[in-house]
Amino acid sequence: MPMKKHTLTDGAPTVTAANDVFDADCDVLVIGLGTAGVMSAIAAAGQGCRVIGADAAPLAGGVGTAACVWDYYYGARGGLYREINRKADALLAEGVYLSTAREGVSTYPTSVKSLALEDTLDALGVTRYYGTAVTAVYTEGGRLCGAELFGERDFVRIRASVVIDGADGAVCRLLGLQTLPARKCDNRTARFARTVAMRDGEGRLCGAWHQGDALPQDAGTEELSARFLRWSAKPPCYAERFDRGNRLFGLGCITGIREAACYETEEVYTFTDWLEGKRPEKVAFYALSQLDNSCADVWNEDDDFVDWRTLCNMNPYAFSVGISPYLLMAKGMDNLLLAGKHIGTGHILTSGVRMRSDMEKLGEAAGVLAALCVSNRCSAKEVADLHFPAYRDLLAQSGCYDADNDRGICDLNLPDRGMWRICSLPQTAAELKECLSGITPSLGLLAVRLHRVPIDDGVAAWLTAENRLLRENTAVALGMLGDRRALPVLRDILRGDTERYLRYWDEFQYGWHSTTDLCNFIKAACLLARFRDPADEALMKEVAFYDGENEIRVTASHYAKRYFGIYEQLEEDA
Ligand SMILES: Cc1cc2nc3c(=O)[nH]c(=O)nc-3n(C[C@H](O)[C@H](O)[C@H](O)COP(=O)(O)OP(=O)(O)OC[C@H]3O[C@@H](n4cnc5c(N)ncnc54)[C@H](O)[C@@H]3O)c2cc1C
Repeated sequence: MPMKKHTLTDGAPTVTAANDVFDADCDVLVIGLGTAGVMSAIAAAGQGCRVIGADAAPLAGGVGTAACVWDYYYGARGGLYREINRKADALLAEGVYLSTAREGVSTYPTSVKSLALEDTLDALGVTRYYGTAVTAVYTEGGRLCGAELFGERDFVRIRASVVIDGADGAVCRLLGLQTLPARKCDNRTARFARTVAMRDGEGRLCGAWHQGDALPQDAGTEELSARFLRWSAKPPCYAERFDRGNRLFGLGCITGIREAACYETEEVYTFTDWLEGKRPEKVAFYALSQLDNSCADVWNEDDDFVDWRTLCNMNPYAFSVGISPYLLMAKGMDNLLLAGKHIGTGHILTSGVRMRSDMEKLGEAAGVLAALCVSNRCSAKEVADLHFPAYRDLLAQSGCYDADNDRGICDLNLPDRGMWRICSLPQTAAELKECLSGITPSLGLLAVRLHRVPIDDGVAAWLTAENRLLRENTAVALGMLGDRRALPVLRDILRGDTERYLRYWDEFQYGWHSTTDLCNFIKAACLLARFRDPADEALMKEVAFYDGENEIRVTASHYAKRYFGIYEQLEEDA
């Protein structure tokens, strides 16, 4: 079978003939030893595979070991990553590192976790190439058989039985694989973040600041350097605590892609699938997070996301997502696995499952899958089809798979023995009424959105209730279902005095529940824009082209512009 070499020429995938000469050979080649990829390498080597890894960075761990990726985010417990964290803890306890920094910043100093990873990779005999990028991959009869790396040691060609792409899809791009629909900024928006901490004269930590900036992925080196310098020179927020005895130190900085392009995998599982109640038959592990869509233009997202985030305001809730092994397999490539935020979950769901500990589990799941491909001499699909119990047993041994992590929807306000407390949605009209009458109607709105409570005339009657919250929340609920009976109340909300909503805003101050998306004024603008009723043109013009500083009105104006199709137009022009 003739061998083919796949490269990029001016960004376009190019295929040429290649010869069968390699410098090294392994069972599993991991390109990108980042958050997920490094765990793939550790998991595969732990199963006895000969593993080679490569990363463009000078050390393993990717964005996940950067000091400013905090632990406050979610992710389900259990898995090999916990052992790495324990190793990092032990290193901290030895006192070699700045252990007090961890109390204040709630993360590991960059060097400690990287060192724990490096120790583990050494112990498992994983060969690493750092400062090395993948420049080509080779296929033979539709199967991936190796890669060309370029770095400190010149070009190296490595033959492998299984390749894992832990590099934000770098291997997929070389092969010209299909991406899922995404925003234009996906895979392009890089973030720069930096953590600075301060110690007092006695060495105690007295402050930590997390700074961030967004810059285009294709920024040239000049722009990149300028941004770094500007951030370092910026009048610091910590100046007010300045004291000659204090000392400032940086804990690390990172650049990384917040949301990667997602590639088509053997099974694609999106947020809409999750909302519709579809659950994968075979689950490798459960991810647990809120939808953290860091893009500022939430109003430009699809209706499912806007329903969840804006209309139901589910921001204060995390939810578990079963990740099936088929989500880790590049479509049509037998032996290419994906480890990282570029799996086939689509960009909305990815914003939930991309959190650090879930990515670490994802890497483990891909590494074990690769190891079973090697030991069974079969494709990843065959492992999942025919050897799934053995696969899951291995993941259960480390705690990566844990049925208890299937927690449905959890309230992030209510931690319960280290796990988030499971919420139940209202089931009856009476429960729904109680929920919609209060200041946190999210679960009631979601129950309506998911058709868990039948909407009859009795519910519609709440549109004229004395209780303003019940009236307005019912209008939002019905409006979300496209029920025109909601229109008069939605219009009343928009005609209302926004000052009242600003005061009302304070009523919503309830821990994590206080977000800018919570206000019914914004929700009404969003829904009336969806209805596009000609009778609302004047009202919507006033809301959409608001030019003042009222925070609620500014946010509402973005949603209202959709009434005039303005954002769709911009998207087409872009
Ligand atoms: C600024 C920022 C802040 C965040 N904060 C948090 C937080 O507080 N808590 C939390 O849980 N999550 C946080 N996240 C999310 C989470 O940390 C990341 O989503 C996760 O670490 C991504 O894992 P990954 O394996 O997909 O990517 P990465 O860890 O970025 O790994 C990708 C690796 O591929 C390598 N690579 C790329 N291209 C190539 C190539 N061509 N050849 C070879 N190697 C290549 C890179 O060097 C990198 O090591 C944050 C993310 C960002 C960007």
